[in-house]
Parts: sequence; C-alpha cells; structure tokens
Amino acid sequence: MVKEVRKSTRKTITVRCYAELNDFLPSDRKQKNFELSLKMPVTAAEVIEFLGIPLSEVDLIMVNSWPAAKSHRISEHDYVSVYPVFETLDISSLKNAPNEPLRITRFILDAHLGKLARYLRMLGFDTLYRNDYGDHEIIDIAGKEKRIILSRDKLLLKSPEVHHGYYVRAIDKHNQLVEIVEKFDLCSQFKSFTRCMTCNSVLRPIKKEAVRDRIKSGIFNCYNEFFYCPVCDKVFWKGSHFQRMERLIINIIKSRMGARAS
Ligand SMILES: [Zn+2]
Repeated sequence: MVKEVRKSTRKTITVRCYAELNDFLPSDRKQKNFELSLKMPVTAAEVIEFLGIPLSEVDLIMVNSWPAAKSHRISEHDYVSVYPVFETLDISSLKNAPNEPLRITRFILDAHLGKLARYLRMLGFDTLYRNDYGDHEIIDIAGKEKRIILSRDKLLLKSPEVHHGYYVRAIDKHNQLVEIVEKFDLCSQFKSFTRCMTCNSVLRPIKKEAVRDRIKSGIFNCYNEFFYCPVCDKVFWKGSHFQRMERLIINIIKSRMGARAS
C-alpha cells in the first residue's frame, strides 16, 4: 500500500492519466498533469493503484516518455503518463517496443453496420460482423476478445456488461468509416489488403501468374499485386474502388487536421 506523505518526507512525481482513466480521478486531477507526493520506493503499478485505477484498465505506462513495465521503480521528479486499454489517441508511434504493438484495435459490429465492417477489414482491422449476431453474443465475444463494440443500437451499448462500446453517429457508410478512423485515431494503423473484406480472414499474397485463369484479362493486365483468401477462395486486388475509398479517407482526415491546426 502506498501512502501520500507529509511535505517534509515527500518525493514528488508528476502524473497524467488519459481518456476514460479520468473517470477514476477526482475533478482536480482530471485531464491534466498533477503532482503526487509519495513515499519511495514505489512501482508504476503501485502509483496506479494508489490513484484508484484498476490495473486491468491500463494498457500503457510511459515514464519520462519511455514505455515502462508495471513493476518499473519510479524515481523522484519522474513524469508518469497512463493510457487505458482502448485509448483513442494513437499511441503506437510513442511505443518503443520494436516488434510487438502493445495495443491491437479490434472491433465487433452490430447488424446495422455491414458496410462499415467491410471497409474496416479493407483497411486491415480485425472486425467481426454477422447480421445474425444477438446482443448477448456481441457482448460476450467483445468481453472475451477485448473488442470494441461499434453499434447504432443505444440499448445494446447501455448494457452494464459493455465495457468498450461506441455509438456510431453517421448514417452514410463513408462517413461512418471516417468517424471511426478519427474517433480511434486509426490512421497510422492502416494495413490495407491484409484481411478479407467478406470473412475477416488474413489474406495471403498470391503470384500474378497463379490468378491468370481466375480473373478477367483486363484486371490481370492492369494490376500486379494480388491477394488470396483461403477461407472464401477469393482473389482480391487494389482496384479503383479501394483507391477511391483510401483517397477519400486520407483527404478528409488531412483536411480536418489542417482545420484543427489553423
Ligand atoms: Zn474470406
């Protein structure tokens, strides 16, 4: 147990908690840097527990801008920032773990969002969707697989068993995609053509020659890169539809970032 101690013996650190982790903090510590005076030695996990934040809610701890383990020993004057499991800021660029991303953004969508599911898969996001999922099934899978529920059904999202859900505001499928890319700051996580748009399976690259008899000659002559879904037995290529969508999203995001900066 860590105790905040009197001024004479305290060692001070600075802390900042992000997004929904602020729900656990009193108002004078929400959404800003604050100082803590703690008896040392203390670990990062102990600081987080002291703040009343469940460790299961925490995905990433940074100490002086470097990723730190929960067992990391905190020193006086350290700056500790704490990010939740589904932080909506893009924290991937901050992480120094060279190979393994610490967070993988995965989704499960309700029956109203079939088109959005295809677009998210097109950009490489692990996205479960079936038009016959029941509400309980969605909640159950989301909990077990740590997926964010995207839904147009407010009743579903109000269930107390939903931990990470988001109500999709836009009606149009293109706007829905832009909304989700912005909300979860997914731009730097695009891995286009790594997932099947139909079934969400991971695609395999396939040699051009191997698809000659499976596609129209016009397409064969136009494109050099092809991908294969072993589950659907389908061949995909980066056709004009994909290019239009990718351009649309990038342009919208660029223009919004420009508007914010000005
Ligand atoms: Zn497939």
